[in-house]
Amino acid sequence: MEFIRMCEMMNYYNLVISMKSSNPQVMVQAYRLLVETMVAEGMNYPLHLGVTEAGDGEDGRIKSAVGIGTLLEDGLGDTVRVSLTEEPEAEAPVAIALVNRYVERNRKSETGNQKSEGDVERITYNVQHNPYEYKKRHTYEANAFIGGHMVPRVVVDLSHANLKDPSVLNDAGYIYSPILDKYNMGEQSVDFVYLADQLPSFTFPGNLKQLYNYTAWQKLADKTMCHPVFTLREYLQADDRSSPLNLVRIKATNIDSDEFGSLPLDKSLVFVLETDALHGMADQRSFFFKMEELGLEVPVVIKRSYTFSHESEVGSQKSADNLCTTYDVERTTNLQLYASTDLGALLVDGFGDGIWIEAPGIETKVITSTAFGILQATRSRISKTEYISCPSCGRTLFDLMVTTQMIRSRTSHLKGLKIGIMGCIVNGPGEMADADYGYVGSGTDKVTLYRGKEAVKKNINSANALDELISIIREDGNWIEPA
Ligand code: SF4
Repeated sequence: MEFIRMCEMMNYYNLVISMKSSNPQVMVQAYRLLVETMVAEGMNYPLHLGVTEAGDGEDGRIKSAVGIGTLLEDGLGDTVRVSLTEEPEAEAPVAIALVNRYVERNRKSETGNQKSEGDVERITYNVQHNPYEYKKRHTYEANAFIGGHMVPRVVVDLSHANLKDPSVLNDAGYIYSPILDKYNMGEQSVDFVYLADQLPSFTFPGNLKQLYNYTAWQKLADKTMCHPVFTLREYLQADDRSSPLNLVRIKATNIDSDEFGSLPLDKSLVFVLETDALHGMADQRSFFFKMEELGLEVPVVIKRSYTFSHESEVGSQKSADNLCTTYDVERTTNLQLYASTDLGALLVDGFGDGIWIEAPGIETKVITSTAFGILQATRSRISKTEYISCPSCGRTLFDLMVTTQMIRSRTSHLKGLKIGIMGCIVNGPGEMADADYGYVGSGTDKVTLYRGKEAVKKNINSANALDELISIIREDGNWIEPA
């Protein structure tokens, strides 16, 4: 603000302002605070949005979408840059997909065709909610499993999967061993599977909760680890509920209804918040605001559904041979970007005790890893190592992509550690300020290693640098042997 004021004193107004960070939560809060401050001073400079050093692949896309998408959802942002540790030409399609969603939304909004009752015309922050600070919404703990201080839970839909084959759970993070007839869990094993009205013909892992539609649940002989999903009306009329946990589907508009007012509120109740609004994030956020106003502490699973039509996603110029592959990649990327925007925008504000992504036609393993990726990017549930790696530029002193993959191959099991991989010593240390350890190019074939912000080994040979980094992690007691 000081520099903007100086520019204005010199009668210079051709400014576009950027407030990037590699942490999407910090980035979102910084831009919001900047806008608030500018508005108070009568300024309205355009904003350039970006999440710096977002990394590569799925992680880079999800992190970028959480930061950039959250702000775009609120109408903030005039240009965007997606910064990936990949070939430069990989960045623009991601940025274009993020932005084009609003072109399409505005078009639909103008025609009015797809507008629904739940669309929110004006977004206003509830006075109790501070948009510049993360505070998890206060909820009670249901069944000692969801809400309260628990990490957000993940639900996936397996109702269309082959429920005769135990290996169907592999994509939900439970790896089945036919020889031992056992499942192995990992950091990205889901917490609930939704089976609708389908009954599996094999035994599920003992710690995996199964969700059934109410009428199917009623007929189960053994209800251990099985819980019902009700409509609001079913729940009100039900004479048979699950004593530990009941999930009730709800929409933001229901909160003003008489039915909602007559809900029996006990600590077995969890809402599954759905939306069919064009601006679904704002619709769902309005529900959280109203819950806060009413002082209701019911945990909420945020559910979003996505369908991708072939025609709208694939350009007609693409050859038939490549069509299927291109289509699959595009809709996977779009799912990652849209879900990260919609769910990430609520999670960065502390809303949501669970997430449920429904995307017919997209592989369950993609949905599972997208869900855990969103929770990681919003720092609401850490399930893997985080890499803060720069996109490279003329200053880069090694092959960023190759080096990132090499470091990832030996450290990806270190859940919760943040490792910065930076191409140069000029900007690298500042850009990775959030990292626990840093690997920074400091000359030809030379690397400087950081513990937090402190350079602990300077200008070491790049051939030994990864081993040295691992010994520092080991010295700190943060190393574990890979499984
Ligand atoms: S090499 Fe340095 S200046 Fe270039 S992108 Fe990486 S950290 Fe930034």
